[in-house]
Amino acid sequence: MTIIIFYYKFSVSATFHHSCKIFLGDGCVTKTFMMVWYIDMEAYHYNGNFIAKEIAIVNSDDSQCFHYFIKNPQDLPRRPATPSCYFQFKRHNLDWNFGKWNFTDAISDIQQHIKDDIVFAKGVEKTKFLQRWFPQLQDTVWISTPFKNLNKCFSALCNVKHGRNCARRKVHELMYADKLYKTHQLVEEVTFAFSLMSLDNK
Ligand SMILES: [Zn+2]
Repeated sequence: MTIIIFYYKFSVSATFHHSCKIFLGDGCVTKTFMMVWYIDMEAYHYNGNFIAKEIAIVNSDDSQCFHYFIKNPQDLPRRPATPSCYFQFKRHNLDWNFGKWNFTDAISDIQQHIKDDIVFAKGVEKTKFLQRWFPQLQDTVWISTPFKNLNKCFSALCNVKHGRNCARRKVHELMYADKLYKTHQLVEEVTFAFSLMSLDNK
């Protein structure tokens, strides 16, 4: 999907964002918005590593959404008997033995969908973990509101009764919040461009 916006007589050399390219022509700036995906996962955090249980990705116009429940690792047939793992289970309600996808198969499937498109996640540790397979992945540090306070996309909840801790809900929340942020940013830039034009005409 490509959206192109022209600002006549606005000649600023700047990089707006990684998700777009800017070309400077004869008094024109063109911003080309590329396909963007959002990814999130619910996981156990054990032994300094994530053990993914639910992964979801959605693209920026919500026309494609893929959702995976992940099997436990073969070398860990049972949930480790630690208070931390028990607490995590109570939080996301994803049983250790629940899921039908092998983690590597799910990652390969996602890679086929997103190719080298831009991908956003939320959270430093999660982003760092997923960057092993998606090096282009970026942390949406500009969205400071925590997931628990993003409340626009409850219709995207999956069938597991895990309330707010649903990766499918969270990718939709992230997509919604990011688009809102970028719309505000764009309005500010257009306002700034028009203010320069009006100065130019004085
Ligand atoms: Zn879910």
